[in-house]
Amino acid sequence: MNTDSLFTPGLVAAQQPQWPGGVNGPEVTKAVETLRKLPPLVFAGECDSLKARIAIAQEGKAFWLQGGDCAETFEAATADSIRNRIKTILQMAAVLQYFASLPVIKVGRMAGQFAKPRSSDTETRGDVTLPAYRGDAVNDLAFTLEARTPNPQRLVQVYNTSSSTLNLVRAFTQGGFADIRRVHEWNKGFAKDPRFGARYEQMASEIGRSLDFMASAGVDPDAFKTVDFYSSHEALILEYEKALTRIDSRTDLPYDVSAHFVWIGERTRQLDGAHMDFASKIQNPIGIKLGPKSTVEDALAMIKMLNPNNEPGRLTFITRMGASLIREKLPALVKAVTDSGAKVLWVCDPMHGNTYEAPSGYKTRKFDDVMDEVRGFFEVHKALGTHPGGIHIELTGDDVTECVGGGEQILESDLATRYESACDPRLNHTQSLELAFLVAEMLRDH
Ligand code: PEP
Ligand code: MN
Repeated sequence: MNTDSLFTPGLVAAQQPQWPGGVNGPEVTKAVETLRKLPPLVFAGECDSLKARIAIAQEGKAFWLQGGDCAETFEAATADSIRNRIKTILQMAAVLQYFASLPVIKVGRMAGQFAKPRSSDTETRGDVTLPAYRGDAVNDLAFTLEARTPNPQRLVQVYNTSSSTLNLVRAFTQGGFADIRRVHEWNKGFAKDPRFGARYEQMASEIGRSLDFMASAGVDPDAFKTVDFYSSHEALILEYEKALTRIDSRTDLPYDVSAHFVWIGERTRQLDGAHMDFASKIQNPIGIKLGPKSTVEDALAMIKMLNPNNEPGRLTFITRMGASLIREKLPALVKAVTDSGAKVLWVCDPMHGNTYEAPSGYKTRKFDDVMDEVRGFFEVHKALGTHPGGIHIELTGDDVTECVGGGEQILESDLATRYESACDPRLNHTQSLELAFLVAEMLRDH
């Protein structure tokens, strides 16, 4: 069945590419027809089990960890890069889980995160102005007219790259690579790094003792050997997401089978826009990004539109206020939503409100600002008696130099050494683990 009729026609879709021939032209139509015939990337039942886990987190009984690239690229969908990202997320999750004494829901910003909203439609270098890079789903990062011209066939490549990425993710997380004892060995290696002093070594050895104790007692559950890992991305290019929206044979209801979880970004969450209409029609668990300009009225209207029946696990608010505004802006939102009785999961994205341009021209973020926003998020939830439900992090498993600070003391003058992001600056492997240990301390003390 063509699910297009589910969606309200004529609504404005922000941040869409200027496809050659237009959105109804032959090239987009051809790509969409191809996509419609391809099998789902995820099973609707998996979306439901993620929703059930989010429902548990909404009750304060689980913690959400979502991480991955700002913008995945086709070129970086290699075994090494995918493995390093998964490894980083698993290492973070192990520390968080131990100190929170809560299950951690592991979600990759992965296997579909190929499209980006941009503040400007064009980019100018010298006297040349070209279309902005909108992610590999749309065009190529190289600064030539050919590379920057949107190409709808890329949507098919998004599907294929997501499919092979997800296949490897499933193999790694089910095939023994994710065994908690192995993950702990990696963390021990990190915690020994002299740049961090003994602070994390003590935390790591505490985890080690628990694992040794269980081993000595003969405890060896399957849950130690495999993990559930979910995929997510911003639902931005509506032709792609609609082509992958299918009617689930079990329930007769529509699911976006491009990922387990999709979110609507800060720039596309207009209440009368096409993205919100899209999100309101699919059954997946949904995230909405909330920036510092979000009002209580916005938040309540979104709840009404996306989750009128207050279904547990359906809605996650991902706040991205900036370190300087979180303590001022978040309380009113959390309070009003809590008072309304609406079930939402509150997740902190400490990345997108803390981006600035270094004198060298590189977009960067300070590790201390990222940590300060997370700390503010915890403080606000503590004061209101609500659950600081999780974190949303732009990260990579590689040793890039894109964010400044952290124990490695990356300086603004170091950014050029290894700056590889196709879009926003990511925490590198070490910075990500450091963040996890610091957030684990916050969770332990919460
Ligand atoms: C993003 O997550 O990469 C992004 C663009 O975020 P936001 O919608 O919060 O600006
Ligand atoms: Mn980003």
